[in-house]
Amino acid sequence: MQSQIQTPAGGLAEQLPPLSGHEALVEANRCLYCYDAPCTRACPTHIDIPAFIKKIASGNLTGSGRTILEANILGATCARVCPVQELCEGACVLRSEHKPIMIGRLQRYATDYVYNRGIDLFRAGTPNGRKVAVIGAGPAGLACASHLARLGYSVTLFEKRELGGGLSTYGIIVLREPVEIALAEVEIVRRLGVRIETGVELGRNLDWTGIQAESDAVFLGVGLGSTPPLGIPGEEHVIDGLAYIEQSKLDTARLTVGREVIVIGAGNTAVDCATIARRLGAERVTMVYRRTEREMTAYRHEYDFIKLEGVEFRFLTQPVGVISESGIVKGLACVRVELGPPDASGRPAPIDVPGSELTLPADQIIKAIGQKKPDLASALGLATDSGYIRVNSQLETSVPGVYAGGDCIRARGAASTVMAVQDGKLAATAIHKQLMKATADREVSVNG
Ligand SMILES: Cc1cc2nc3c(=O)[nH]c(=O)nc-3n(C[C@H](O)[C@H](O)[C@H](O)COP(=O)(O)OP(=O)(O)OC[C@H]3O[C@@H](n4cnc5c(N)ncnc54)[C@H](O)[C@@H]3O)c2cc1C
Ligand code: SF4
Repeated sequence: MQSQIQTPAGGLAEQLPPLSGHEALVEANRCLYCYDAPCTRACPTHIDIPAFIKKIASGNLTGSGRTILEANILGATCARVCPVQELCEGACVLRSEHKPIMIGRLQRYATDYVYNRGIDLFRAGTPNGRKVAVIGAGPAGLACASHLARLGYSVTLFEKRELGGGLSTYGIIVLREPVEIALAEVEIVRRLGVRIETGVELGRNLDWTGIQAESDAVFLGVGLGSTPPLGIPGEEHVIDGLAYIEQSKLDTARLTVGREVIVIGAGNTAVDCATIARRLGAERVTMVYRRTEREMTAYRHEYDFIKLEGVEFRFLTQPVGVISESGIVKGLACVRVELGPPDASGRPAPIDVPGSELTLPADQIIKAIGQKKPDLASALGLATDSGYIRVNSQLETSVPGVYAGGDCIRARGAASTVMAVQDGKLAATAIHKQLMKATADREVSVNG
């Protein structure tokens, strides 16, 4: 047995409390309601932010929720998980002189109002006789499916996991978003008439040729794969960061947290793993990264947050093996590195410093070094771009009638929930345009 402590009863809870009615009103009344608002432009789903805030100020909370969810059906998730500092709040004109408006928290206030009262704001459109298959019930798939359902399409969503929601359900830590919010959004999409079949995986128990033959169009929102291997001896003792987070959300009774935890990686997932370990009682948490602070991919505000949590950092340190005795983890063997010329990723390549071997003590080691590229692309014969599914400006893949969006296409830049939602929306619009055009063309040729 490892010297591990169990999770305290109750585990983790959402970090930020909801705004009270008074707080929301005061905050809404600070907004300048800018014409051509920079916050709306900075939001990837272009929510009309001044409009939804004005509706809060005038007490029209249902209308406020409608304005948000019209543009972003996952508005309740995005209110909690969006990197607002980089997006809407980062563009707020009040940022330079005062505090920016708390757009995310006002968005949560309005969407919570709608959800807590079970208000359904949208209906399925009049059936148009067309069928679309959506693969993957993450943010991209849910957004695409809901938009198509509102346009009258018969939509079936196939999801390989037991629950819908994608990483909002399985990957984003409870501190930021409780599972119930993600699942409530899945139910909203179901109530729009979308059939959601879980436990169905394209390539395993769902046949690609059959799906294509039965559907007028297909949307792939399959996200990325599991954590890639480190390729070091003793790797079998290393815990997968995504599995660690998933357990902290959905299987807390079986989650064990070490006293001395090492997290390998320096992206947002690594920060999340370190946060869980620290919050659930680890005495010492160290993030090990083979480059420097400058090359970290975690958001700056996340890095600042984790430092305040007391997490330590070992930069320019490359893991080379896990030290264990009778299956019990004792430490991580590492070498010091220095940075050389850029590698294939465009970042400076770490080069081992001879004679710099060191051992870091640990009783739990977690790897959080990103996710594998979507392996489905080659299996389905789709063209790729650096391993990601290649799409054109209409989000159509190299196979006509097959569209894709979300993390599986994001070859460059940071991936986020709100970007996946926007992809789903844009793909739904492109599918609708294409199928309506095909119908119009057919009518012209029939009528001469
Ligand atoms: C640990 C972690 C923390 C994050 N934190 C944040 C955050 O705080 N803020 C933020 O904005 N973003 C965050 N992100 C990123 C965000 O979660 C993703 O960008 C977003 O979920 C992408 O949505 P998606 O629909 O493309 O993919 P996913 O959410 O990955 O959903 C893909 C879905 O497709 C299903 N699927 C895959 N293959 C198949 C198949 N063959 N057949 C059927 N179904 C299949 C999967 O099971 C999954 O449900 C985080 C990511 C991680 C890993
Ligand atoms: S969806 Fe995200 S980026 Fe857009 S307004 Fe809401 S919190 Fe800001």
